[in-house]
Amino acid sequence: MIRFIYVLCLGLGLALVGKTASAQNYPTCFNALNVPVSYFPDPTIPDIAIARNAPNGQPIVLWNPNVTASMHPATVEFFYYHECAHHALAHTLGNYIPGAEAQADCWAKQTMIGLGVLTPQKYQIITQQLFQNSKPGMDWPNGAVRLQFLNNC
Ligand SMILES: [Zn+2]
Repeated sequence: MIRFIYVLCLGLGLALVGKTASAQNYPTCFNALNVPVSYFPDPTIPDIAIARNAPNGQPIVLWNPNVTASMHPATVEFFYYHECAHHALAHTLGNYIPGAEAQADCWAKQTMIGLGVLTPQKYQIITQQLFQNSKPGMDWPNGAVRLQFLNNC
């Protein structure tokens, strides 16, 4: 909870929703060492977004504006928190282990609930898009299994 400061994040949340007209202000994301995380667009990454540390050590999230443009804003919002989770839970500090992806999904869901921004309608849209678009990964063979974890979280 203390990893979030409720301020307007100029550029960050706004940037994540890309060209859509609805400007979102998400809380600033902090990594496990309480360093703020910066989000940058990068159309070359082969996914919706990726959490990593820059060569100078700065915690960053790269998000693909072409992919987010095809997603519902609720799903983009979920991934804002999913990628934040990888930093907040120190997955990007050498703790990226089996279970980390399901953990990031759960952290995103619980954080959105805690902030009061996860409506039943949003959750339905998010789970539908995760079901349709999730590729086989470390923690799940498909979107259906991913949703089993998320629904039980
Ligand atoms: Zn992830």
